[in-house]
Amino acid sequence: MPHPLLRTGLATVVGLAFSLSLALTVGCDVSSTGDGSGNPTATDPWADLWCVPDCTGRVCGDNGCGSLCGTCEGDNACTAAGQCLSTAAGSIRGTLKFEAQWPEVQGASISLGGPQVFPGARMLAVSLNTAGELTGAAQADDDGKFVIPLSAPATGDEQLLFTTLWVPSLDAENIVFSVLKPQDGGDPAETVSPPWAWLVPVPAGGDVGQVTITEEQGSGAMYVFLFTVEAMRSVTQDMLNGNPDKLKSLAVLWSPGIEWSCGACYASGAAQWVDETSKVADQSVFISGESGGASAWGYPVILHEFGHYMAQNYSRDDSPGGSHSIGQAIAPAFAWSEGWAGFFAVSTMSRWLQSPEPIFWDIQQGASFWLDYSGGAHDQGAFVQPNMDGGLDQLLDECWVATMLWHVWDGADVPEKQPDGVALGTDAVMKAVASKRFLSYDRGAPGADFVDFCDAVICGQPSMAWPLKQALNGLLSFPYDGGSQCP
Ligand SMILES: [Zn+2]
Repeated sequence: MPHPLLRTGLATVVGLAFSLSLALTVGCDVSSTGDGSGNPTATDPWADLWCVPDCTGRVCGDNGCGSLCGTCEGDNACTAAGQCLSTAAGSIRGTLKFEAQWPEVQGASISLGGPQVFPGARMLAVSLNTAGELTGAAQADDDGKFVIPLSAPATGDEQLLFTTLWVPSLDAENIVFSVLKPQDGGDPAETVSPPWAWLVPVPAGGDVGQVTITEEQGSGAMYVFLFTVEAMRSVTQDMLNGNPDKLKSLAVLWSPGIEWSCGACYASGAAQWVDETSKVADQSVFISGESGGASAWGYPVILHEFGHYMAQNYSRDDSPGGSHSIGQAIAPAFAWSEGWAGFFAVSTMSRWLQSPEPIFWDIQQGASFWLDYSGGAHDQGAFVQPNMDGGLDQLLDECWVATMLWHVWDGADVPEKQPDGVALGTDAVMKAVASKRFLSYDRGAPGADFVDFCDAVICGQPSMAWPLKQALNGLLSFPYDGGSQCP
């Protein structure tokens, strides 16, 4: 019998993953703060963008803005619906981990290191009875630990399911994000593909111990899922006023051995289906699963494509597109679009790992490259620096745009190596690119560009005008003038 607290969204997820019967069964190794979002004020120009913690009907668990509604005491565990439920009757518990490959820099080249084990933080664990009905759910904590309260002790007939379909809350009707397992590659297009899913048998008593999803079992899908969900949470918190119902659905298509003609790309018009009648996404990101390539471990590329999805849907992107390469100065709106995506990739991962990781890297057919957005250099030399006499509308190297963004961003969410007097942090950066100033005005070169971004930051925080100008004119050699009028 489904738990009464579990509502439509989650039931849809489980129904889909289970009815498709495509889950891999994996063995289990039985061994066994303030709201952080600031406060809206009447004079705050970003007031409508602040995340509003929502604990309506919830006494524990996530408040939608990155902190907790409360914690449960003693034998009680927090259910996915934010209720403390006694586990005295019974529970299913364990720790979820997965294997991931991590990059190693050796001189000018990057290679993937041996498998490392990461905790399956924030992954949804759901329990199913023999009929495949949902009996409970929990979200794993930062260490991958989960406890699903049950109304009776586990008999040994239950199963545990982890899947790469994501609903932002149990009140949400629709799946917002999924990692799907394409059956064929080729040109990026609309497809019918199952989600990735893993089933774990539950022993009598309910302790499944440590479950480790291996690389062979497709742990790459879990890696992509976890850091992209983190990116979705940033979008919800900073750009959608904490309202996940405004998220535009997205799927990432990835499977080992499946390759796309674009390598990696974002397609705003490609919808995705898990069967003939169930559409799960209106837009897609395609990632090649080429062996000898970065594949699922190439988080900079995957998050770069997510950065394009974000700019397209929640910010503004006037890029003319076209070919571009490292060390080339291009039109400011084009450089903004690519530089933003690159910055978004490394800053998101840095937040996820809670340490500065300014290196953008990729490996294709065994060949690698890297870009250091902190140091302003790549494996072949330095980025192209702007000219202090070149005006606000000069051509820019997209990598330098990312470098400027990195330096005005770092120091708040992660420590900064080189103090530059500006540490905007993620909230301010995201709010700026979603602000009315950025969306509706244009200064500098035609189209949304780095100048518009700086103006938007200052419209939100006038006190930043001087430090921002100083940092850009000095260390970053961009002739920013300190801003113009605000809406
Ligand atoms: Zn791009």
